[in-house]
Amino acid sequence: MQAVRTAPIVGQQLRRLGVGSSWPRALLGQPPLGLARRPYASGATQAVLEKSDPLSPEASTQEKQAKAESKSFAAGMFRGQLTTDQVFPYPSVLNEEQTQFLKELVGPVSRFFEEVNDPAKNDMMEKVEETTIQGLKELGAFGLQVPSELGGVGLCNTQYARLVEIVGTHDLGVGITLGAHQSIGFKGILLFGTKAQKEKYLPKLASGETIAAFCLTEPSSGSDAASIRSSAVPSPCGKYYTLNGSKIWISNGGLADIFTVFAKTPVTDAATGAVKEKITAFVVERSFGGVTHGPPEKKMGIKASNTAEVYFDGVRVPAENVLGEVGGGFKVAMHILNNGRFGMAAALAGTMKGIIAKAVDHATNRTQFGDKIHNFGLIQEKLARMAILHYVTESMAYMVSANMDQGSTDFQIEAAISKIFGSEAAWKVTDECIQIMGGMGFMKEPGVERVLRDLRIFRIFEGTNDILRLFVALQGCMDKGKELSGLGNALKNPFGNAGLLLGEAGKQLRRRAGLGSGLSLSGVIHQELSRSGELVVQALEQFAAVVEAKLIKHKKGIVNEQFVLQRLADSAIDLYTMVVVLSRASRSLSEGHPTAQHEKMLCDSWCIEAAARVRETMTALQSDPQQQELFRNFKSISTALVERGGVVTSNPLGF
Ligand SMILES: Cc1cc2nc3c(=O)[nH]c(=O)nc-3n(C[C@H](O)[C@H](O)[C@H](O)COP(=O)(O)OP(=O)(O)OC[C@H]3O[C@@H](n4cnc5c(N)ncnc54)[C@H](O)[C@@H]3O)c2cc1C
Repeated sequence: MQAVRTAPIVGQQLRRLGVGSSWPRALLGQPPLGLARRPYASGATQAVLEKSDPLSPEASTQEKQAKAESKSFAAGMFRGQLTTDQVFPYPSVLNEEQTQFLKELVGPVSRFFEEVNDPAKNDMMEKVEETTIQGLKELGAFGLQVPSELGGVGLCNTQYARLVEIVGTHDLGVGITLGAHQSIGFKGILLFGTKAQKEKYLPKLASGETIAAFCLTEPSSGSDAASIRSSAVPSPCGKYYTLNGSKIWISNGGLADIFTVFAKTPVTDAATGAVKEKITAFVVERSFGGVTHGPPEKKMGIKASNTAEVYFDGVRVPAENVLGEVGGGFKVAMHILNNGRFGMAAALAGTMKGIIAKAVDHATNRTQFGDKIHNFGLIQEKLARMAILHYVTESMAYMVSANMDQGSTDFQIEAAISKIFGSEAAWKVTDECIQIMGGMGFMKEPGVERVLRDLRIFRIFEGTNDILRLFVALQGCMDKGKELSGLGNALKNPFGNAGLLLGEAGKQLRRRAGLGSGLSLSGVIHQELSRSGELVVQALEQFAAVVEAKLIKHKKGIVNEQFVLQRLADSAIDLYTMVVVLSRASRSLSEGHPTAQHEKMLCDSWCIEAAARVRETMTALQSDPQQQELFRNFKSISTALVERGGVVTSNPLGF
């Protein structure tokens, strides 16, 4: 009975996390999964496998399907593959003209933030100063990615990343004002808008004449976005929808004229005739009437950005303002968020750069115990770790933006990793900067405490890092699960699938004999980084073996194993970040960049520690009986706290 009851809940959870819902039959428990092991095959090896058995169309089709599944390196990691297409060589996507144009923008935008914008004043006033807003409009900063024929600057993702990096260096409050407008507020119109919608709305949005906001969150619906209650009921004539509902914590909610709003609409299933409530996205104008907002929220950070409740009370929204398909709103929301995550990583790379400069300045000038503090090992380790975290985040932001510019559609796991990593790295870097600055760091004047306050929200909004970790792990497991399913089918028809199984058996034998999987990065990374490359490969093999073992053990129930999923996600993050820095440092070494040897140190240092973390985490998941005890304890301790309403233990004094 229980299995019957949990299945739909699991499916719902997956969908609500934005993970595709087509879990393979193999993970529902039918095929003999214990036998179904997947080779750690690179794309090239897979091609060889396909060629090795021309008489086996089924095997070939399965391999092709697996290959067609994803070009994502991160998805490949879960399958034990090095899918190098998107990560090696480190992508350079800008042509000469785009580079030149970007260079022309970087100077004025940087100067604007250095000379005109006053982040401390914005923070104190809890709004962005009007001179800044006007200046940003003149710079075109409200329409960076709007095509030039519609009045925008027409930047690609990589160019956009470079400019938001500058914003992130100087003022995250301004960054959120601009980001809520273009990265999520009207991104839906850019991605899903009809020609008429684009022509109607984008020119004014691009100039900043109108401001946009993204309205998804509601009082009872945060991470579980699919549970929204706002409703849009179609009129009998079909010409408009009546929108009712309220949204909370909407960035730019008190300033916006144009809202991307998500609401439930009745959708009739063409096949069955059944009516279901599905989410639909709408472009809503304040001028439609019935749109109001609450006062600006008082918050911990990004105070300069406006955050407000927005109410929709009987708003008549014309049917032509549906964004994307009726009933397709959840997909629209997820696409918008996925699409904007690289921008957050880029902005936070900028934040780290600015903060590191402050830390270095203090460490260089502060004398204690008769010496400048940068000469002390503890300070040196902090500075070095800050530089490494910055290097990783920056490398990842531009890797993801370049992949998107190259037309990739397989970047969701990577984008989520870049958001998780960037927001946590920026927090650590800023916290350590305060530590290096001592009491001075705690003072308002240097402005670092403001940055720390501003940064805290980045781990929460646009998908909490916890939910995104579940997304990373489950999306990866799902891809891997599909493959296990394919092998399960292959095992049912061993003669037809001889090529696939022979390849499989060979890999297994080699692994059991300790000969390794044959995976290598040697052809794609610079030889000076070969040791780090080996660390990545070893870590990836161990990771993939654990993923497989966990899927075989838990099958579809993996979705409820959050202790395991979190650890898989953490290791996935370590693996992807290692590969990204290996790629960038390799390029620098190959091209003889002046900082190449410094980058090699950043890269090697990151790989040494990240690989060790993966090793430790995977070993514990694989074989440590104490790990299970730990998970049981966490659950029991938490349950006791919840039952007690706080800590369970009494004071050691007994009162
Ligand atoms: C300053 C600010 C600006 C914002 N701007 C916007 C905006 O412009 N537009 C908009 O639509 N929204 C906006 N938001 C809302 C924001 O996106 C949400 O706060 C966020 O999605 C998290 O939702 P929640 O706060 O309801 O937390 P909840 O979803 O209630 O989560 C609480 C905690 O539980 C965890 N959790 C939840 N579900 C699970 C699960 N299944 N498994 C494990 N852990 C779980 C979460 O990770 C989190 O730690 C903004 C919020 C703030 C604070």
